[in-house]
Amino acid sequence: MSTVLDLVRDDLRTFAGYRSARSDRLVGDVWLNANEAPWTNAGDTSGSARRYPDPQPEALRETLAELYGCAAGQVLVGRGSDEGIDLLVRALCRPGQDAVLVTSPTFGMYAVNARLHGTRVVDVPLVDEGDTWRCDFESIAAAALREPVKLVFLCSPGNPTGAALPVAEVLQLAQRLRGRTLVVVDEAYVEYAAGESAVAHLATRPNIAVLRTLSKAHALAGERIGSVIADAALIEVLRRCQAPYPLPVSCVAAALAALSPSTRARTQAGVETVVAERTRLQQALARMAGVRRVCRSDANFVLARFDRPQAVFDNLLAAGIVVRDVRAAPGLHDALRISLGTPEQNTRVIEVLDTMQVPA
Ligand SMILES: *Cc1c(COP(=O)(O)O)cnc(C)c1O
Repeated sequence: MSTVLDLVRDDLRTFAGYRSARSDRLVGDVWLNANEAPWTNAGDTSGSARRYPDPQPEALRETLAELYGCAAGQVLVGRGSDEGIDLLVRALCRPGQDAVLVTSPTFGMYAVNARLHGTRVVDVPLVDEGDTWRCDFESIAAAALREPVKLVFLCSPGNPTGAALPVAEVLQLAQRLRGRTLVVVDEAYVEYAAGESAVAHLATRPNIAVLRTLSKAHALAGERIGSVIADAALIEVLRRCQAPYPLPVSCVAAALAALSPSTRARTQAGVETVVAERTRLQQALARMAGVRRVCRSDANFVLARFDRPQAVFDNLLAAGIVVRDVRAAPGLHDALRISLGTPEQNTRVIEVLDTMQVPA
């Protein structure tokens, strides 16, 4: 019977990786096996930094598993979901032979990591349907069956497009590519979407991996905590490919504090405010002259097309507001991506754009 491990590079399937001083479950009270200093640094006021950290702290894994609705063994924690993307490419793709598939316009790191790893990128562009984008699952399946595609990167909700993908279609794609390709669903913005996470379907679709992060809705981008959620055997392989001590002690503490029940309630309230503000910004943009399109969004940003995108960008900048110029991306020559800020900040954006409509 084929398992998801068949998708891992042959030469890495039994690779043990680096055996760090934290790899073995030894017991003692005098730890002299890692060349650490015997005293804390005088500047280390918490006294927690002297020792190398646990590579995968169980408390954090369990908290994340509970948050995401899976088992702790299905979670790999890393330095942002960016590290997860890199590990997946390195563990599954043979440089110079295999390929990854992306759906442009999409998050740039998939192609960056593929390129760094000598791996070809097959692009099956999203279909521009005016105010939203459609993922062409038929063409993705055809391309993945035709070429040596080891990873399909789907971004849901999409960045920079904003639209979430129908989970049923993602599951169907995974079914068709079973035993052949891992379907990666990057859910960096899923907290802002109404639909369900693909995590709920890992039991029936072992060739799906989900990326989640604390960087966006949980407001913890500076701590660099992201997860890969997948079949436990695949997680073990990724772990052996990961750096020996990927998670700084202070970042793990910050992540645990950010996931306490009371903090999570605050996070949820923030998400609800952003979702309401998203509708307000979209409606304001939709009634403005000079706005060609406002895309549907299931995320914490709005993608819009403008008659004069450069002037819009410049006017916002002159008012001290920095938005993302995405015009270099395929199909987005007139578009800007505006992240939602506080209600006051969003009002400032709307005011600047309103002023522009008055002929000078
Ligand atoms: C922001 C973002 C990430 C990166 O998340 P980190 O966990 O901060 O590395 C991953 N994927 C997408 C689509 C993003 O927009």
